Amino acid sequence: MRDPVFDTVIEYLKGVGPQRADTIKKELHLFTFRDLLRYFPFRYIDKTQFFSIAQAKQSDLSAQIVVKMLQFEEVGTKFKRRLVAKVEDSSGQLELVWFKGIRWIKPKLQIGKSYTIYGKVTQYNGKFNMTHPDIAEINGKPETKGLQPVYHSSEKLNTKGLNSKGFETVIANCLNKVHGRISENIPEFILNQYNLINREMAFRQVHFPDDETSLAKAKFRLKFEELLFVQLELLMTKQLVQKKYKGQVFDQLGPYFNDFFENYLPFELTGAQKRVIKEIRRDMGNGAQMNRLLQGDVGSGKTLVALMVMLIAIGNDCQAALMAPTEILAQQHYETLTSMCKGMKLRIELLTGSVKKSARKPIHEGLENGDIHILIGTHALLEDAVKFKNLGLVVIDEQHRFGVAQRARLWHKNSIPPHILVMTATPIPRTLAMTLYGDLDVSIIDELPPGRKPIKTVHYYESARLKLFGFIEEQIAEGRQVYIVYPLIDESEKLDLKNLSEGFESIERRFPKPDYQVSVVHGKMKPENKDYEMQLFAQGKTNIMVATTVIEVGVNVPNASVMVIENAERFGLSQLHQLRGRVGRGAKQSYCILMSDYKLSKDGKVRLETMVRTNDGFEISEVDLKLRGPGNLMGTQQSGVLDLKIADLAKDQAILSAARRAAIELLEDDPSLKKIENRELGIQLMYQMKNRPNWSRIS
Ligand code: ADP
Ligand code: MG
Repeated sequence: MRDPVFDTVIEYLKGVGPQRADTIKKELHLFTFRDLLRYFPFRYIDKTQFFSIAQAKQSDLSAQIVVKMLQFEEVGTKFKRRLVAKVEDSSGQLELVWFKGIRWIKPKLQIGKSYTIYGKVTQYNGKFNMTHPDIAEINGKPETKGLQPVYHSSEKLNTKGLNSKGFETVIANCLNKVHGRISENIPEFILNQYNLINREMAFRQVHFPDDETSLAKAKFRLKFEELLFVQLELLMTKQLVQKKYKGQVFDQLGPYFNDFFENYLPFELTGAQKRVIKEIRRDMGNGAQMNRLLQGDVGSGKTLVALMVMLIAIGNDCQAALMAPTEILAQQHYETLTSMCKGMKLRIELLTGSVKKSARKPIHEGLENGDIHILIGTHALLEDAVKFKNLGLVVIDEQHRFGVAQRARLWHKNSIPPHILVMTATPIPRTLAMTLYGDLDVSIIDELPPGRKPIKTVHYYESARLKLFGFIEEQIAEGRQVYIVYPLIDESEKLDLKNLSEGFESIERRFPKPDYQVSVVHGKMKPENKDYEMQLFAQGKTNIMVATTVIEVGVNVPNASVMVIENAERFGLSQLHQLRGRVGRGAKQSYCILMSDYKLSKDGKVRLETMVRTNDGFEISEVDLKLRGPGNLMGTQQSGVLDLKIADLAKDQAILSAARRAAIELLEDDPSLKKIENRELGIQLMYQMKNRPNWSRIS
């Protein structure tokens, strides 16, 4: 919509004016005609057909009926006053009831006249009635009205007369104003190939559909267009990156990798680990800068892969950095990597926010003169003071915790941008990955190290608590360790801490000293105390760790075999899956026990059932996407996915695949969209890309 008419601000529209325009801007962030036309109805009222009273009584849905007025009267006293009317058609009788607006409705009613009414029939005290129906007098032949759009409104908008009906009028006015000017932007051969209706028709029909079929076609066209643009943007960015950004060429595995592989490798690599190392190696050797996503479920052994590819970088005279989202994780990576590489001539350093100033200086120097091979840290790595001699590879662990801007800063740490490997343990549904990371190459570790037994998951209600304690006792007697996790939800942090400390006390009563050691960890503790408790647990000195979700990410204690999650219904699916991933890391059978209230929401129930049914992170992420929609999933906040106005990634997978196919075909034939038939598409795409933050460059 490049025609300047679409830039017209909405206050110039008939029926809007400055005051209403102001409220619309504040409440809905709609400024121009373009914005308004993209304010799509969220549902439709079906007035395409008439029902009989008898049919409507059988149905749970709203129905449109033609009726004759038999009688009406106001009944009840002051506060319980209501207007009751009796109507009939050939199939039976029905009562209509109004509690409000009696003054307006009553004068419209006349005995013996015909009306169309619209509403839901419900049963009250054995009688069928319809409360607050839409009602309109019929003059002549009853006419169907098609599908009526329903728009989201708000209390503030309502008071300004902008309820759904109000929007209907405003949008109808807007459509009149732009009549004939919503120009086509998709080339004709694509329209034909994918059976798409033209653009102006699609906008008209999505707001004011003639019938279900036209509505479906309009929605398909608009969703396709929206997703086509996202895909084109991603694919073009990818082309651009590959062309423009040269990367360092790592043409050998190098001495460090080989030494490690021959002398230090702690266990045989899994097939999946070997495969992804090969993929990454190939990517770092072909002259272009690597942007790769490494997906692998919790416990699949991503850390070892990270280390080995960093060793390749070092063997090619570069430095490498590993960035983790929390201090604890960075610390743990540091310990894991230094112990794995013990004996090798390698300098590995840790840099986090809590490293003292005096200790920083030698690190800064070592980085600048190239003495330090691997730097591990948190976002402290991004500070300007941190300069490398030649940074060749950055590995980012648990990528979703980093903002885009933070990642962009890494890019500039070297004259030739470093290769980037983003690791995530939060599996992303295929459709979402295609949209979020369409510009990234993806490697997947789809195999767990051998000898792991699948974690057994059960869901218990409070009544099973004694059984739970008995089970914990048995496991500890066998030498295992136990996590007990409490939810922490920001608004009621105090309450949650109370839950946690009460839980802790009851556990200590049941598992008293000196026979048992119980520790507690939560986010309000000083980092050093937290680390101390974590260390004790990691060393096997405590039996039970009572904690909030601070342990969610990455912590690795193979001897821990039981994960108890209290109030499990309060956690999201991906969080539950992450928590469960803390156990099942050793050779012993592990268990995850989900404790919950008796009262469960529908979604809560689905979440717990899903956890009990499967250990597969991808399956879980699909369910999560269906339950919550893409906007709430990790990683989506930073991308264009949230701008989607009409497509729904959870439901429109088929359309997405089609749009992606079309985008690939288009670009294969015309990489910069310069051909005459693609020009409009190309121009609009450039316009869109220019107006968006450059998130797609890295993530
Ligand atoms: P994640 O992918 O969740 O980061 P980690 O890298 O922490 O997983 O690995 C989980 C555990 O599996 C660690 O204890 C690690 O030492 C072990 N591990 C990794 N690779 C292998 C392998 N090939 N064989 C056996 N154990 C492995
Ligand atoms: Mg990890």
